[in-house]
Amino acid sequence: MFERLSDDDLATCVHCGLCLDACPTFRVTGLETESPRGRIYLMTQWKRGTMKFDQAQVEHIDLCLGCRTCEAVCPSGVPYGRIIEAGRADVEDARRPSFKRWASRTALRQLVAHPGRLRLAGMATRTAQTIGLTSVVRSGRMLPRLRARFRPPVGNVAPALGERKHRVAFLTGCVMPILYPQSHHAAVKLLQLAGCEVWFPPGERCCGALFAHNGDLEGAERLRESNMRIYGQGGFDALVVDSAGCGAHLKDFYPALQGKVKDLTEWLAQVGLPEPESELKLRVTYQDACHLAHAQRIKKQPRDLLRAMPGVQLVEMRHPDICCGAAGLYSTLEPGMSNRILQEKLDDLLNTKADVVTVANPGCQMQLEAGLRGRGSSMKVEHIAETLVRSY
Ligand code: SF4
Ligand code: SF4
Repeated sequence: MFERLSDDDLATCVHCGLCLDACPTFRVTGLETESPRGRIYLMTQWKRGTMKFDQAQVEHIDLCLGCRTCEAVCPSGVPYGRIIEAGRADVEDARRPSFKRWASRTALRQLVAHPGRLRLAGMATRTAQTIGLTSVVRSGRMLPRLRARFRPPVGNVAPALGERKHRVAFLTGCVMPILYPQSHHAAVKLLQLAGCEVWFPPGERCCGALFAHNGDLEGAERLRESNMRIYGQGGFDALVVDSAGCGAHLKDFYPALQGKVKDLTEWLAQVGLPEPESELKLRVTYQDACHLAHAQRIKKQPRDLLRAMPGVQLVEMRHPDICCGAAGLYSTLEPGMSNRILQEKLDDLLNTKADVVTVANPGCQMQLEAGLRGRGSSMKVEHIAETLVRSY
């Protein structure tokens, strides 16, 4: 038991508590057990066998968002992302089976890992939405109205517009082409404008991020093996990702791609976009995705790109880099805590009086759309690629 957790990783925590105020679950509960330090302590005791594994205590691990804010502020370099992924996998082996956990793992393995089945589920949902059966198939408040799914172009290559300067691979992913195809369309157009030939690796599957975050490391490893066979078939300067959670996972979990994985904003800031073509009149606020700001430490590039848009006024929230409570499947598995965290975020957002909140992750987009709708707000939520492409 508890073989994946590393003693060395756990020992890096010196219990200073400097991470506590940054942790969203500690901020809303004030409880040590819902803090990074408390969770590390608990996992350390289980690993050492100095505390009996207790089913009731698992809740403290379940309530962690995996947002890695603690990792970004920790002066001791605690690799919290690695600890919580290993800890969750160990906990899954040790805990009593529950229907909720079984259902989420089965849905991931049987649906998300298979693009064809996921597309069918998307089509069924779209049909039901069209004929007004939304209450039957909408997973509560979360699912956005679906549009026609994103499809790679014939031949799996989109040419550079103008001179070809780079060749990039593009992660199409699992849920984004179904839930937010417009984000991919905008991202690809920006890449083309930046002189990139965009290759869509045929047969590419889900990157495995949702699996790893839910303690299914074996499932994530199987997807990595499958994807690495595909990536090996084409040369590229960078693998560009427009979903922060997927980008963080690829950077951490795919060592063979070391240095090649780039978030869309990271890559565009590096290679440059052409002069914007139109002037806008738009008040924009930017929500940092945890897996971009904390896991990949990318905060400056998206803001620089937004500020470079003529007529865009970037207004900051009080706490733009605090999690919105989405966190992959968290909002479904832990709706109570997710909603408490979301409410604080919505107050912060509405205070900006922005026309648009721009995001870099589909989970944040869904969470904020649902939250703003619930508050009766007309603030629009869109992916940063959609915001940037408005200038062209
Ligand atoms: S995780 Fe880092 S910041 Fe938090 S208590 Fe441990 S050493 Fe201190
Ligand atoms: S990952 Fe996020 S929720 Fe979990 S302990 Fe760290 S700061 Fe708190």
